[in-house]
Amino acid sequence: MRIARYTTGEDPAYGVVEGEPGHEVVAAVQGDPLYQPVVFTGERLPLEDVRLLAPVIPRSKVIGIGKNYAAHAAEMGSEAPAEPLMFLIPNTAVVGPGDPVVMPRQSERVDYEGELAVVIGRICKDVPPERVPEVVFGYTCANDVTARDLQGSDGQWSRAKGFDTFCPLGPWIVTDLDVSDLSVRTRREGEVVQDGRTSDMIHDVAALVSHASQAFTLLPGDVILTGTPEGVGPVQPGQRVEVEIEGIGSLTNTFVRR
Ligand code: MG
Repeated sequence: MRIARYTTGEDPAYGVVEGEPGHEVVAAVQGDPLYQPVVFTGERLPLEDVRLLAPVIPRSKVIGIGKNYAAHAAEMGSEAPAEPLMFLIPNTAVVGPGDPVVMPRQSERVDYEGELAVVIGRICKDVPPERVPEVVFGYTCANDVTARDLQGSDGQWSRAKGFDTFCPLGPWIVTDLDVSDLSVRTRREGEVVQDGRTSDMIHDVAALVSHASQAFTLLPGDVILTGTPEGVGPVQPGQRVEVEIEGIGSLTNTFVRR
């Protein structure tokens, strides 16, 4: 199931996206499917008639994972860590498909990082890897936007990855998906700049969720970003970046300087 959060100009609503690419329809549902079973309202809207929003606003946290693809760790001039390297992104950084990413005046270098995002569906703690499927609600695309210069000069990553608008999520959450070997592709102005596969992760989704849950209680709506493949690079103001993941869809945002 593809679960979208959207607006037609009024309060955000949730719906199930049905149909083939180019002919999708949003079937509206009651309430938030993260917390209650899917019950259709009967309203159906062409996808092009709604504005998609971030499919989830994490109530407590976005957990990022650093250097989870060996080739990316190498391009950053470092070794991949033995254990998953975690950082936190404030939920105020989350935006949706088509929303602008605002490049802050404090940074001279803002990079894209296309990533698979995991959305947690149940409160959980100390989850063994084999039980992770029970706590995952679904998956979406993420851009772990990074002020690369500040990541270095700050010595830690909170500001560099936590600016407002630095965590685009979308276009929707796919609830039934085998994520063990999916293509993760990023395009900048239409040119492919990252072309990885989730099978190249050092720590797989089950290991990442299990590891995170050993430090933090995970709540419904928490999001875990699973790391970026090689090919990260800078974005110039006005450029459009698209993160496309096989089986999910694509998330596009334009970067702006204010
Ligand atoms: Mg990242």
